Amino acid sequence: MVLGDITTQAVDAIVNAANPALARGAGVCGAVFAAAGPGLEAACAALGGARTGDAVATPGFALPARWIIHAVGPVWRGGDRGEAQLLAAAYRRSLEVADELGATSVAFPAISTGIYGYPLDAATDVAISSVRESPCRVTVVRFVCFDARTLAAYEQRLA
Ligand code: ADP
Repeated sequence: MVLGDITTQAVDAIVNAANPALARGAGVCGAVFAAAGPGLEAACAALGGARTGDAVATPGFALPARWIIHAVGPVWRGGDRGEAQLLAAAYRRSLEVADELGATSVAFPAISTGIYGYPLDAATDVAISSVRESPCRVTVVRFVCFDARTLAAYEQRLA
């Protein structure tokens, strides 16, 4: 885990916390669109969206990363709407897509913990357990934490 900005990570693939429309949003998604440059909007439009819990890939365009894996996490609605399963699926699908691309190093943001409102500690448990339990050929998974509070949540579990 590192404290930092996912758009600057030199890995094969970065994961974007996307929305189902794969539209330019705020938060990490807005930062990814801004840093990748104009080609990303057309590439996302061509994919036609993604379901919650799924992940799809585009090139990284101007990013150091070769690919962007757009993973759609759930909006938190109190915890009894399948949020944990959907968040785990978003991580698992991201690693499956990484395998399909041949990406062996992947950087994840804390999916769903910003605008989508998923409680940080619970989301961090799901992020770590789903990555640990996903069979894949990815050898480096970097959790990129944008603030000290997020870093502390990962440190508590990974240190
Ligand atoms: P979601 O809609 O899935 O909740 P957000 O982008 O609102 O997505 O937030 C997810 C996490 O990404 C939050 O911890 C937020 O602070 C973090 N974040 C925002 N910008 C960046 C960035 N440039 N790099 C890494 N993480 C970021």
